[in-house]
Amino acid sequence: MMNEFSYKHDFPILNQSIHGKPLVYLDSAATSQKPQCVMDALMHYYQHDHANIHRGVYELSVRATKAFEDARHMVQKFIHAEHLHEIIFVRGTTEAINLVAQSYGRSRFKPGDEIIISEMEHHSNIVPWQLLAEQTGAVLKVIPVSDVGELDLEKYETLFTPRTQLVAVVHISNVLGTINPIKEMTQIAHAHHVPILVDGAQALPHIPVDVRELDCDFYAFSSHKAYGPTGVGVLYGKTALLDSMPPYHGGGDMIETVQLHQSTFKKLPYKFEAGTPNIADIIAFATALRYLNRIGMEKIKKHEHDLVTYATEKLAAIPDLRMIGTAKNKTGVFSFVLNNVHPHDIGTVLDHEGIAVRAGHHCAMPLMERYAIPACIRASFGIYNSREDVDALAAGLLNVLRMFA
Ligand code: PLP
Repeated sequence: MMNEFSYKHDFPILNQSIHGKPLVYLDSAATSQKPQCVMDALMHYYQHDHANIHRGVYELSVRATKAFEDARHMVQKFIHAEHLHEIIFVRGTTEAINLVAQSYGRSRFKPGDEIIISEMEHHSNIVPWQLLAEQTGAVLKVIPVSDVGELDLEKYETLFTPRTQLVAVVHISNVLGTINPIKEMTQIAHAHHVPILVDGAQALPHIPVDVRELDCDFYAFSSHKAYGPTGVGVLYGKTALLDSMPPYHGGGDMIETVQLHQSTFKKLPYKFEAGTPNIADIIAFATALRYLNRIGMEKIKKHEHDLVTYATEKLAAIPDLRMIGTAKNKTGVFSFVLNNVHPHDIGTVLDHEGIAVRAGHHCAMPLMERYAIPACIRASFGIYNSREDVDALAAGLLNVLRMFA
C-alpha cells in the first residue's frame, strides 16, 4: 500500500548509500536528521543577519534579536505555554533538568526531603537528582516499571509523603517507547501539593504537547531530537516557580546592575540565560518547529502509530526476538534482544545492510538492570521512516539469525 505520508525527500542526508545499500536511518531517538529548511535557516542567518543580540543598536543586531525572540514565540505557541517568559533557552534537555535541580532544588531541599523519579528515566533525569541529593541530603524514591514497560501508578501514589518535594518523570521512554499518563500523574502530584518536572525529549517530535493541558510545572526538551540543530534546548516552567528560583548561571545578559560585590538580575526569561546564547541554532530550531506545524503533529502521531502497529507485527514474526517494552500506548521506539547475539554484533551486521540502529544501554542503565539485560538493540522512527524501512530491518534481522545460527 502506498503511504501518502512522505517527507523523506526533505532530508538530503537520507539520500545516500552506506556500504552500497540505501541508508535506512532508524536512530531518531538518539538524534533526528535535519530537513533542508533548517539548514537553509542556519545559512541564511549567518549570511544575512548575524550579530550579537539584545545589546546592539545597529540594524544587524536588531534583526538577530528579532529572529531570536521570534523563536521564543514559536516555542511558546508550539507547546501552548501561557506566557512567553516561561520559555527558557538552554543547551538541551540535560541542561534544563540540571537547571531545575541546581536552582529550584538546591535552594530549597533539606536533608530527608524526597524526589520521586521512575525506573525508566534517561540518565539525564537521574544523575542531576543524585548530585542534588548528595548536596542537600535529599533522597530519591523510584516508581517501578512493569514487565510490559508501564509505570505502576498505584505504587506511584504510595510514594508521596509530607517530605516529597518534586516528581521528575519522562513523558516518553527512550528505550520502551511508553507514553506515560502525564496528565494523570500531574493530578496525583498536585493533589499532594508537589510540582512535577516532565522530561519531554522523546515526546516533542512525536506527539502534540500542550503544557497547559498537561498542567505540568516544568517541561524539558532538546531541539536536535525534533529536527532542529544540536546545542539547543528549552526549559518551560510556570511563572510562579521560575520567578521564585535563583539564577543558575551568572554572567552577561542576565543582570540588571552589577557592582563589585553584588548584582541584581533581569526578569524572566533572561535571568536564566547568561552569556551569548546559541543564536543561530535557536533561530533554526524555530524553523524546525514551523516545519513540524506545517505537516501537523496529529498527522505525525498517526503516521508513527501506523508504523508502530506494522513494526510490532513484523518484529513479532522474527524467531527468538525478545521485545523490551510492549506498553499499550507507545511510540516508534523498538528495543529488543535477539537470541544470544550480542547487540553490537547485530548493529554491525545491520550497518553492512545500510541500516543504522543503536546498540547499548541507551543511557538507561537502571532499566537494563530491570529487564536483566546488559544492553539491547534499539530501532527508532522519525517522520522520514516508512514501512519499507521496517521491512529492511526485519530482513536484516533474519540475516543476523542466519549468520549466527
Ligand atoms: N531524556 C530522554 C528521554 C532522552 O532520550 C535524552 C536523549 O537521548 C535526554 C533526556 C537527553 O537529551 P540531550 O542529550 O539532548 O540533553
